[in-house]
Amino acid sequence: MGKASKDKRDIYYRKAKEEGWRARSAFKLLQIDQEFDIFHGVKHVVDLCAAPGSWSQVLSRNLYVPAKQSPDCKEGDLPLIVAIDLQPMAPIEGVIQVQGDITNARTAEVVIRHFDGCKADLVVCDGAPDVTGLHDMDEFVQSQLILAALTIVTHVLKVGGKFVAKIFRGKDTSLLYCQLKLFFSQVTFAKPKSSRNSSIEAFAVCENYSPPEGFKEKDLYHLLEKVGTPSGADDLDCRSGWLEGPNKVYIPFLACGDLSGYDSDRSYPLPSTEGGSYKSLDPVQPPIAPPYKTALEMKKVSSHGVGADISKLSLDS
Ligand code: SAM
Repeated sequence: MGKASKDKRDIYYRKAKEEGWRARSAFKLLQIDQEFDIFHGVKHVVDLCAAPGSWSQVLSRNLYVPAKQSPDCKEGDLPLIVAIDLQPMAPIEGVIQVQGDITNARTAEVVIRHFDGCKADLVVCDGAPDVTGLHDMDEFVQSQLILAALTIVTHVLKVGGKFVAKIFRGKDTSLLYCQLKLFFSQVTFAKPKSSRNSSIEAFAVCENYSPPEGFKEKDLYHLLEKVGTPSGADDLDCRSGWLEGPNKVYIPFLACGDLSGYDSDRSYPLPSTEGGSYKSLDPVQPPIAPPYKTALEMKKVSSHGVGADISKLSLDS
């Protein structure tokens, strides 16, 4: 892109350079914190999909650096920040980096190991797939990343903790809201000022983690392992007996959404009538004066080989 491109003139892009942030997205997290006070009382954080690292920088500058400079803070009391991404990133003070795929169940294990028994107060996820421009497809892939992030959340977040995740607004946003609401008492979709209006991105700010009674996080982890394997689809079938108790309802809901009723975007096989093939039924109430009536009459007249007086026909009708 040339020097005069729109990106380079963007105020947040320039401010990011002036203030030493690796990306303009730093302002999104800062503005979310201004609105929701998400850093309050936070010591242990997971930054999912962190590269190039501007959110990790925000976490380091707001949590780790002030604690380190405080004379009262002992070595063991320093905040713990674990950042994960597919891509490597340059070191950031106070941030432990893990290179890995968050949709891989093994990555969740690595994060859990770093927390060594204690739980996170906050999990943030700014993950985004390579956008194709096909909104439905982008929204679907994004929802898979959120499911992976949620799996990690259910394993590492303490009860009462917070989760912030990038979402793509689309037709399934209300479903995503219901899925997140299953785990958090407060869910808000926020659009910080630094997020461009032209972008379908927004952020789910989830507060007060409180998983439903009887929910076993291991099953979500199992689901993550199965997605993408050749036998995955069969194994994921909720009737195959690997789910027990309330998870029989929660896991299919998290994986596929509401499965009751017909999906208006799907094709179903045509039902055949008794002993025969599918029989198309006439409309219950045919239109009284459809706009195509004139065209049908003209077609009828011309197919009988009679020279039709077209102007008369259209005047009559
Ligand atoms: N929050 C970051 C910052 O402030 O610098 C920017 C994140 S960038 C918008 C999205 C990141 O998601 C990319 O670095 C990409 O590598 C990462 N990502 C996408 N899919 C991922 C996955 N499955 N596992 C881990 N990281 C992933």
